Amino acid sequence: MRIDVFSIFPQMVAEFAAQSLLGRAGQSGLLDVRVHDLREHTTDVHRTVDDSPFGGGAGMVLRPEPIFASVEAADPPRPLFLLGPGGRRLDQRLAQELAAGDGFSLLCGRYEGVDDRVRTELCDDELSIGDYVLGGGEVAAMVVLEAVGRLVPGVMGNAASGADESFSDGLLEYPQYTRPAQFRGMEVPEVLRSGDHARIERWRRARALQRTIAARPDLIEARGGLSSVDRALLEEFDIP
Ligand code: SAH
Repeated sequence: MRIDVFSIFPQMVAEFAAQSLLGRAGQSGLLDVRVHDLREHTTDVHRTVDDSPFGGGAGMVLRPEPIFASVEAADPPRPLFLLGPGGRRLDQRLAQELAAGDGFSLLCGRYEGVDDRVRTELCDDELSIGDYVLGGGEVAAMVVLEAVGRLVPGVMGNAASGADESFSDGLLEYPQYTRPAQFRGMEVPEVLRSGDHARIERWRRARALQRTIAARPDLIEARGGLSSVDRALLEEFDIP
């Protein structure tokens, strides 16, 4: 899968993509992340990428010429997403959709944002990572790269770990424990050490439900409330 990123701080994103899981996926050829420096497509000696906004106001706006030139030179995989707080909100479902495709591209804004002609005429869609304002799109690009990249088939060592985690079935994940079984008087739940795999499965489901009910009731509502099976599980493990 090829993912192109356009930025005025390409090293930030390139360095991130070269580490850990994404780095290994790059080396093994599963992921092809290409980061483009928008400044390479400026024409003045100062390599100017921004200018003050028409109509006045604070801050600077990224100029359209270097962005159009950079995208046209790279001919990146589409859709090309402009990163911005006004976009479609990234969630696990969208990450899964993108991971199942052939590739896509991300454009990082900076300062007050980009000239709107970039959004309307060059980009295909707009993507936000949440309802807050960042200083630039680079961190957002890293979030998208990581959320999507790890779901690309073959990237995670254990393929099952993607199917089993938070949001994959509309619930938060059950709590996890590792050794030691006793730590400062805190004990790992007995059921996990019982070897009874069917019971462990039911316990995990019950604890996932419990956690989701407490932290994210909206997710329970989105699934249409608790089923009779859910209620029976909560009862089995004495979860109120
Ligand atoms: N003036 C703009 C914010 C610009 S922030 C506004 O009020 O909407 C500068 C850049 O950071 C944006 O162009 C965008 O690429 C990036 N950015 C900021 N917040 C973001 C978010 N929540 N998701 C994705 N990108 C974001």
